[in-house]
Amino acid sequence: MKKIITLLILSCILLCGCTEKTVTSSSFMMDTVITYEITADNADALISQCDAVTGEIEKLMSAHLENSEVCRFNSDSNAVTLSPDTAAVIETALAVSRITQGAYDITVAPIVMLWGIGSHDFIPPTDKEIQALLPLIGYEKLTLENDTFTKSDSGMMIDLGGIAKGYALGKCAEYLTENNASGTVSFGGNIALIGTKADGGSYNIGIRDPFDASALCGVIRMDSGIVAVSGGYERYSEHGGVRYHHIISPDTGYPAESDIASAAVIVDTADAYSGALADALSTALFVMGSEKSMELYKMTQSMSFTGWHFEAVLTLSDGSVTVTPGLTERFSEYE
Ligand code: AMP
Ligand code: MG
Repeated sequence: MKKIITLLILSCILLCGCTEKTVTSSSFMMDTVITYEITADNADALISQCDAVTGEIEKLMSAHLENSEVCRFNSDSNAVTLSPDTAAVIETALAVSRITQGAYDITVAPIVMLWGIGSHDFIPPTDKEIQALLPLIGYEKLTLENDTFTKSDSGMMIDLGGIAKGYALGKCAEYLTENNASGTVSFGGNIALIGTKADGGSYNIGIRDPFDASALCGVIRMDSGIVAVSGGYERYSEHGGVRYHHIISPDTGYPAESDIASAAVIVDTADAYSGALADALSTALFVMGSEKSMELYKMTQSMSFTGWHFEAVLTLSDGSVTVTPGLTERFSEYE
């Protein structure tokens, strides 16, 4: 009997010693504010590890850090050997390019650089400068075979700015799930919902009104997964009273002009693949416009392969909101 009581006391001490707590913290990496609200026994340590994971991904995929794999590929005329992370991101990027018929295309890099949206001394490039770089765009000219990444035109460059943050977010979500944590991680406009919410309910995710930074255009009810948002309001420059945003149409070389003001892509899983997919798709839908986006939605829904399944909230330039059929029950619009 004495033994049992001692054991009971011991287990109590052990259980009380590792109390779950909710930690809120933020950091800045990948050019983005990252915020965590994590509930776990060792939440602080898990958040530090997520920062470390994100730092590694930034070192590999940044278009600005000299020794990143992206910069090596961009400055090299030959094949480059990739790490498993960069290879996974490029594989997803190429698949999204194929399924969106090139609306998402990482080879848009030279034109992204030419525009230099967000730079202090912004001046829009001339049409001649844009036309000169258009022949360098074309994801079909890239080949990824295992870890060997090759371009068929030596001047080509890539930009993972529309996918790497989603991949890092998904990788953090994967790590947190494996470690029995729950809560949310947000990378700028992208958010991952992990595990079961501390109070057992669903998460309510607000979708920002692209025309009013302080307002929401609606709320999605979700249990877990990832939401990635792309909009012209996220990053832009102004010149001569004209606003130029950061998402480029690979067809024209100019900031994309569709009927979409912001595209939110929702996936129900929170892992590295889903994070990358949602991020690249949100950029693609913004370029494609609502009609083609809904066609893509229908096509992916009809596939037996569920890896492409997504839902979307599209806020159109006229202020109206369109949601994919799978979301109607879960989305409430704000008037
Ligand atoms: P996001 O904010 O996720 O929509 O990604 C936008 C970023 O992706 C830009 O800042 C560019 O670095 C890059 N980008 C711009 N246009 C495209 C495009 N059509 N396809 C792929 N990446 C793009
Ligand atoms: Mg994106």
